Amino acid sequence: MNDHEEEKSLLDYPSRRSFLGLSSAAIATAAFAGLTANAQEKASTQKAEHDHSSSDPAQENRGLLALNPNSNTPPPTDHGDVGPLWYSFDLVKKRVEEGGWTHQITQRELPSSRDIAGVNMRLVAGGYREMHWHTADEWAYVLYGNARVTVMNPDGTMFIGDVTEGDLWIFPAGFPHSIQGLGPDGTEFLLVFNQGNFSEDGTMLLSEWVAHTPPEILAKNTGLEASDFDNTPGAPLYIFPGTVPPSLEEDKADIGGGQVASKYQYTFHMKSMAPTQEGKGGSVRIVDSRNFPVSKHIAAALVTVKPGGLRELHWHPNASEWQFWIAGKGRMTVFFPVDNARTMDFNANDVGYVPSNAPHYIENTGDTDLVFLETFAAEEFMDVSLNQWLRRVPSEMLKAHLNIDKAKAMKIPAEKLAVI
Ligand code: MN
Ligand code: MN
Repeated sequence: MNDHEEEKSLLDYPSRRSFLGLSSAAIATAAFAGLTANAQEKASTQKAEHDHSSSDPAQENRGLLALNPNSNTPPPTDHGDVGPLWYSFDLVKKRVEEGGWTHQITQRELPSSRDIAGVNMRLVAGGYREMHWHTADEWAYVLYGNARVTVMNPDGTMFIGDVTEGDLWIFPAGFPHSIQGLGPDGTEFLLVFNQGNFSEDGTMLLSEWVAHTPPEILAKNTGLEASDFDNTPGAPLYIFPGTVPPSLEEDKADIGGGQVASKYQYTFHMKSMAPTQEGKGGSVRIVDSRNFPVSKHIAAALVTVKPGGLRELHWHPNASEWQFWIAGKGRMTVFFPVDNARTMDFNANDVGYVPSNAPHYIENTGDTDLVFLETFAAEEFMDVSLNQWLRRVPSEMLKAHLNIDKAKAMKIPAEKLAVI
């Protein structure tokens, strides 16, 4: 045996041999030691929360603390770190222009969210979001007021529609579209894009394209004179003021009526649809490609949880969840292996994120209805209910895992309730 081999055997072989030599009883003891350590940690945290250990004698941001009690002092079942789950539109800069404003939460603000980015936008009455398109699909939910939207199919047929609070629209990637605020006070809406690093500042704008095309090419392309383009803006319009358009019927007639009408409907009354599921705890309205065929890549649920209610313990097998909190307040705990669980509080205008397959619940912690949107970069909404799973396995299997006997297990709801 040379020196090198000697060194290797000392460092390597004995540890491998001792691992292989462990009896199953020793492995079980080691596993229980792990559980005991966790129990110790949990008990220690619980005790600390009620003694001087939890005092914080120096400065605190009282406003933020009042809104986020669970985020600051998590339940003792929390452990480790699952990564960022929270952001708020009230922390991101508004780009304000004559006609309205916009701000966004993308992967830059919420790095975990690689599949979805969101934009919150306001257009006053008559205010335009300039004619444009982009590389992501656009899903939108109207939060306030009224708007007129247009989108052209690649075959040249055109959809024009009006939306009001609680409606949604879909603009497929690359399809050119526009949004305009209507009376009496314009609109405000949430936009969801199926690209985490999407930027509302990086869209293809009509004004910019025209500004970057030689006038003689514009003339040759359109059949107009080059001088006809002398008064085009020369700089991006993006959001700009306008006059409230005539009635929808007049606009439809103006562009050529039924001859050029889209055979697809790009808007949907989400809030006023019959609930997909409703119970004492609240309701869920699901819109995806099954009931809104143009929504091929984004699925969503509008959830209402009554005071004291719970969006049940569940997970989503096919996509990450990006939430927008519309009203009320609540807390969410997200579990992720190994040994990570994080609880955060959420208030209106906040954004939440849950990684694909990570189990979670949402509890209404306020005394008013909690309303939020769950959105997914997916063709269909899909969730798995813990309760249903517990009731679908044989009772002796449940007993072996959680030490809950059959008589007690029968009290667990056997069906997916969504909101409890
Ligand atoms: Mn757009
Ligand atoms: Mn969920």
